[in-house]
Amino acid sequence: MSKVFTRDYWQDVLSALKPEGRHFIDGEHRASASGETFIRARPMDGKPGPAIARGNAADIDTAVTSARTAFESGIWRRKEPLEKKKIMLKWADLIRTHGEELAMLETLDVGKPIMASLNVDVRLCADGIQFYGEMIDKLYDEIAPTGPNARALVRKVPLGVIGVITPWNYPMIIDAWKLGPAIAAGNSVVLKPAEQSSLTAIRLASLAVEAGLPAGVFNVVAGYGEETGKPLALHMDVDMIAFTGSTEVGKLIMGYAAQSNVKRVALELGGKSPLVVFEDADLDAAASAVAWGCFYNSGETCHASTRLIVQRSVQDALIAKIEAVTKSDIALRHPLDPTAQIGALIEEAHLEKVLSLVAVGEKEGARRAFGAERVMTETGGYYVSPGVFVDMTNDMSLARQEIFGPVLAAIAFDTEEEALRIANDTIYGLAGAVFTKDMDRAHRFSEAIHAGTVWINTYDMSNFATPFGGFKQSGFGRDRSVHAIDKYCDYKTIWQQFG
Ligand code: NAD
Repeated sequence: MSKVFTRDYWQDVLSALKPEGRHFIDGEHRASASGETFIRARPMDGKPGPAIARGNAADIDTAVTSARTAFESGIWRRKEPLEKKKIMLKWADLIRTHGEELAMLETLDVGKPIMASLNVDVRLCADGIQFYGEMIDKLYDEIAPTGPNARALVRKVPLGVIGVITPWNYPMIIDAWKLGPAIAAGNSVVLKPAEQSSLTAIRLASLAVEAGLPAGVFNVVAGYGEETGKPLALHMDVDMIAFTGSTEVGKLIMGYAAQSNVKRVALELGGKSPLVVFEDADLDAAASAVAWGCFYNSGETCHASTRLIVQRSVQDALIAKIEAVTKSDIALRHPLDPTAQIGALIEEAHLEKVLSLVAVGEKEGARRAFGAERVMTETGGYYVSPGVFVDMTNDMSLARQEIFGPVLAAIAFDTEEEALRIANDTIYGLAGAVFTKDMDRAHRFSEAIHAGTVWINTYDMSNFATPFGGFKQSGFGRDRSVHAIDKYCDYKTIWQQFG
């Protein structure tokens, strides 16, 4: 019989939870060198969360030394591929076995609905580790063409120590996107999670060691960006930084790499993705895609469909359908309520930012069709209802700035050329979509939108086989797919001369 998840059930899981907030370095939990911790307000109700170790440059240095020692010893990278695969697969299994605990840690940190944490975040994290685990014994090197008296091996070798810096919106999923390929390729990792979401990263590391990953291969140092992320990105013994976060901090990371040891960087940054709806489209399908694409995870999604570019003749009809779908399907509730589809925003400062951007938008002339208001103040926590603004032009703040909240900007167009110009008129290039029944037009559009992913008549569909990442100021380098392994490796030529 399948389990019934009730609010009381989850409340009991939360009461029994003992979150570990210390770093995980060299196979064990450690307090910060400074002895300092920090506490955040829980997004779900504003009450104080668990104490988290406040890392600094000394902790980063210890973790990098541990990662380097593990790498140079060869204890992981030289292990038999089949053995490495078994460990990664066991790790994925442990993530699934501890799914409810991990889901609760994620919800506690981030405020997303517990059922989403369990059914989406935990599942995709485990699937990601499994995907790259399964690749380990299927990676071949090459032999280059040479004359008869030589043999040139082209070996794909791990880079060494990878610094991973992640954001708070999908912590477990983004961790898996980077840990999976980096560790499968034979590297060691020091992960610096966002200060808002340390708990699942720390637990993933202890589960990795339980699965058999040698100490030092995967370390976690919690803490603030300036205090831990910056020394990691400036560290002279780190070979690469894999970063996901804002474009603003991504630019700093490039600078740190240049100022230190020319380490490589891969950047997954912000977005302001267009979703274009032509008048011949299935408007019900489009409305559902727009609402879920923009409001899922309370809009705290890098590739959220935040700009609706809609043909003027169907604008009113589409907005009415979006409002109906949002109100009937996207239940905003307390995150422990198993019927919640969306929950809280990450923190008070972020809620204030979202509401102030909305206020600026209204001053500039955007008209509120519905929502985008603070709600559920009686529960504590930080809740904003999904909302839509119309009468907009693409130069207004709501259409240009990444709001990272449940706010949709709707912009009307008359011609296909105009729609394409508006879609591409952004500094970002993470994702986009087109809704039309005309497949010639769908093809033209999907080719012409400058974005790493373009959907036709759907939104946010993907699997591990498809690369994810951005063009323009949405960054470079791709997570997911077999290609993600490449960025954590380099080619090494070994030329052997005979006779
Ligand atoms: P952020 O850039 O503020 O922080 C990201 C990480 O960088 C955090 O771990 C933070 O502590 C760290 N950091 C901050 N300042 C730093 C510094 N000076 N040096 C080193 N590290 C530093 O982003 P956020 O608010 O956590 O996340 C939201 C952003 O992430 C949005 O812009 C969103 O679009 C982006 N994002 C992108 C993707 C993608 O795949 N493209 C996915 C998720 C989120």
